[in-house]
Amino acid sequence: MNQIPAKPTSHSILPAAAVAEFQSEFGGAIIRSGSAEYENARKVWNAIIDRYPAIIAMCEDVEDVVKAVRFARDHHLPLSVRSGGHNVAGRALCDDGIVVDLSRMKAITVDADRNIVEVQGGATLGELDAATSACELAVPTGVAPPTGVAGLALGGGVGWLTRKYGMTCDNLVGCDVVTADGTVLTADRTQNPDLFWGLRGGGGNFGIVTTFRFQAHPIKTVLGGLILYPRDQTKEVLRFYRDFMKSAPNELTAYAGLMSAPDGTPVFGIMACYCGHIESGRNVLGPLQAFGSPIIDMIQPIPFIEMQKLAYQPAETPTNNYWRSACLDELSDAAIDVLIQHANAARSPLTGTFIQYFGGAAASPPEGGTAFAQRGERYNICIEAQWLEPQENDDHIHWARSFSEALAPFSQPGNLLNFMNDEGDNAVQKSFGENYQRLRDLKTKYDPTNFFRHNQNILPAAAAE
Ligand SMILES: Cc1cc2nc3c(=O)[nH]c(=O)nc-3n(C[C@H](O)[C@H](O)[C@H](O)COP(=O)(O)OP(=O)(O)OC[C@H]3O[C@@H](n4cnc5c(N)ncnc54)[C@H](O)[C@@H]3O)c2cc1C
Repeated sequence: MNQIPAKPTSHSILPAAAVAEFQSEFGGAIIRSGSAEYENARKVWNAIIDRYPAIIAMCEDVEDVVKAVRFARDHHLPLSVRSGGHNVAGRALCDDGIVVDLSRMKAITVDADRNIVEVQGGATLGELDAATSACELAVPTGVAPPTGVAGLALGGGVGWLTRKYGMTCDNLVGCDVVTADGTVLTADRTQNPDLFWGLRGGGGNFGIVTTFRFQAHPIKTVLGGLILYPRDQTKEVLRFYRDFMKSAPNELTAYAGLMSAPDGTPVFGIMACYCGHIESGRNVLGPLQAFGSPIIDMIQPIPFIEMQKLAYQPAETPTNNYWRSACLDELSDAAIDVLIQHANAARSPLTGTFIQYFGGAAASPPEGGTAFAQRGERYNICIEAQWLEPQENDDHIHWARSFSEALAPFSQPGNLLNFMNDEGDNAVQKSFGENYQRLRDLKTKYDPTNFFRHNQNILPAAAAE
């Protein structure tokens, strides 16, 4: 029989009267360990994450977020922020502290005259796509519908429209933020522009974003889909993909992947999305489609909202995950050999290795700049170990770590924040490159005590000394 977990948490040392007062003024739901909802509320996408918060504060509005922040401060509680719960390292949850859960704050308003979309901090990509596609618009986000808009946008955000319209954070035009002292600020080009710069790629370091405002783009149908090859064609097709993408127009974003078919057979695939005129797309994609001997070529005109669902198959049961990533300026033949060797040694049919090529509009920051630093023409290699049995954890984690170590001689010092896991503060610093000192100054201004630290953390000056 399932038992409600009884791990002792610091809520037992919180004054009961204070909790009762917090509960009475809080508009949403307060979930505490021992309650019927607790087990479900402390789950995130990655089943390997097993944390026991003292309180999960299900916020209904900005006032709830402010109250939760003030309660955490007054009682010296650790605080974490949960939007979509898809951070692979489980940073949405903290042990023995308060989780500010935004998953009930999902309002989305599309201004189709100005192509501006206002999104509350708890919405997912799928919910955003549903709202924008109804107006034949799209905000450039990521490729898995249940991912949270908030975590993805704050960390940068890459997906099918990246080469045409830039990172998700490049399309941010403003935010409302609850800061560490419980103040609500608007950040955009004219109000608190320094904070706005930091929120565009600086992760959850500066406050809790309750509302995002994005620039959307007219999109209805794209030319897209998967071309699947036998795994033994990987080397030749991957080399072709590398050369082909170098001269591809920005309308085309394409990922390559070494994964398994549903029956467990190892395969290699290229998933492409061309977001310009369909007939031009056919000409652009023709040489790629003509290369090699695919098992199947599913490239066809499809509604963009369907393209957004193609790369993600929801698992029937929750899976354990350990991800690593590497950023490469060049995909040399030697790097491809290392990549194939390690991907072929994957320990689970659920595991995949994905190669994403960026650049185009994402190669340089928009006017005003962004905290996101991994610009230029780049490959992001996602090493995604996924498995079912917890007793196999060490084996899969070892595979992913060895893989990223083997790619290190080919890699840049930094990574894409959204694909980082447990690499540590030093790796986070490298990922921000020359922006790090400016980010540290900003952190010192807006969060001098490092109140928001359950994230890819930027240390404020005092904490760093
Ligand atoms: C299946 C899957 C597919 C993915 N695909 C992509 C992709 O295509 N492109 C891409 O760029 N990334 C992708 N990612 C990575 C993803 O962008 C990050 O994991 C991101 O952190 C998830 O956001 P979330 O809101 O779901 O995270 P959560 O786990 O809810 O939060 C993670 C962290 O984000 C910060 N945060 C979240 N919400 C807020 C907020 N409102 N205010 C301030 N800080 C906040 C906090 O630091 C929090 O700890 C994918 C991840 C998964 C698991």
